[in-house]
Amino acid sequence: MEADHSSSATEGMQAAVFHGPDNILVQRTQYFQDRPALKVNSCAVCSYDVRVFRNGHRKVSPPIILGHEVCGQVTKSVQMTNGTISEGTRVALCPIIPCLDCVYCRTGQYNMCLNLKEIGSTHNGGFAEYVSIPKQTVKMGGLVEVPDSLSDEEASLLEPLACCLHGLQQLGPIHDARPVVIIGDGPVGLLHLQLFKNFVGTRTVVVGKVHSRMQKARSMGAEAVLEYNEDIATRVLDFTGKAGASVVVIATSNPSAFDLVEKVAGKSSKISLFAGMPSGQKFSFDANWLHYNQVSIVGTFSSLPPVLEEAARVAAERIVDLSEVVTHRYSLAEVEKAFHTTETFGGLRAVINKF
Ligand SMILES: [Zn+2]
Ligand SMILES: [Zn+2]
Repeated sequence: MEADHSSSATEGMQAAVFHGPDNILVQRTQYFQDRPALKVNSCAVCSYDVRVFRNGHRKVSPPIILGHEVCGQVTKSVQMTNGTISEGTRVALCPIIPCLDCVYCRTGQYNMCLNLKEIGSTHNGGFAEYVSIPKQTVKMGGLVEVPDSLSDEEASLLEPLACCLHGLQQLGPIHDARPVVIIGDGPVGLLHLQLFKNFVGTRTVVVGKVHSRMQKARSMGAEAVLEYNEDIATRVLDFTGKAGASVVVIATSNPSAFDLVEKVAGKSSKISLFAGMPSGQKFSFDANWLHYNQVSIVGTFSSLPPVLEEAARVAAERIVDLSEVVTHRYSLAEVEKAFHTTETFGGLRAVINKF
C-alpha cells in the first residue's frame, strides 16, 4: 500500500526561487499550508530585487524567494491587536520582521531592529503563489487592509509609497516656499514628486536622465524637469533662485548625486538620502558649508505599519496616483523579463500579477 503524503501540511506552490547571482528558477517549492499566509495577487519589482538577482547581497542567503512589495489575500483569518482580518481580505504587507525585543523594537522603531529580518530578503517573499506571514508581522500590525478603490497592482506599490512617506516624516516640517529638488526620475523619484506636489504642497523640480520618465514627471506636474548633464547645477539654481532648494531628495543610486546636492541645497535645507548606494560608497561635504548653513542630512530606511496605513489613505484619496507608476505587467514565469525591464529603465514599476 502506498503512503499518502498529500495529507501532510506541506503542499507545493509555484515560486521564482533565487539560487545565486543570475540564477533564478521558476519551480515548485515547499509551502506550509497550515500557517497563515497571503495568496499573492501582485508583487512589484523593486530595483533592490534586481541588484540582488545580479550581484547577491550580504543580507540574502540563497535559495530564497525575493519580492517585498506585496498585495495578497489572507488565507485564514488573522487576529491583529486592533481587530480581526478575515479570510480572503486583501492586504498590503509591511515587509520588515522585527525581533520585538531589542531597544529599538521596545520603542516601536521596528525598522531599526538590531535583529531585523525582512520578507523578500531573509524570509521567502512575494514572487510566489503564497507568502507565509511571520508571527512578528501580525504582532506589529504589519498587515494593512487595501481600500476597494485600489487595484491589486496599485496596492503592491503601497509599500514603496510608505517608504517615501516615512522619508518625508524623517525630514520634519518643511516651512518655506523654496522649491524641492528630487534627483532621480525612477518610480521612487516620481512618488516623491507626487507627494511633495499634492501632499506637502511645494514647488518641485526633478533631475532625470531617461526621457520617457522625464516626460512622465512633466505630466505629473513637476514645475521643472531638467536633464542631468555638466551644467545641471546652474540650471537647477536658475529654477530655485540663488537661495537654492529647501529639500533635496536623493532618489538615485548614482553617487554623482552628492556633487549636485552640495551645489543646489540652500541654507537650512534638508537632504534626504533615500536611495541605497553601492556598498562601501562614501561621500564628503565641506564641513563649514554644512555648519554655517545649518544643513541636515537624513538617512531613511523602509517604513512602519502606521505609515503603510497612511499610504493606503493617500493612495485611495488619489493624492498620489499609483496607477501612473505601474507601467509593465508580467506573469511569475516572466520574472526575469520583469527584472530586465527594471534594470534597463523601461517605464517605471513592473509588476508580477497572479497567474
Ligand atoms: Zn522596494
Ligand atoms: Zn528588535
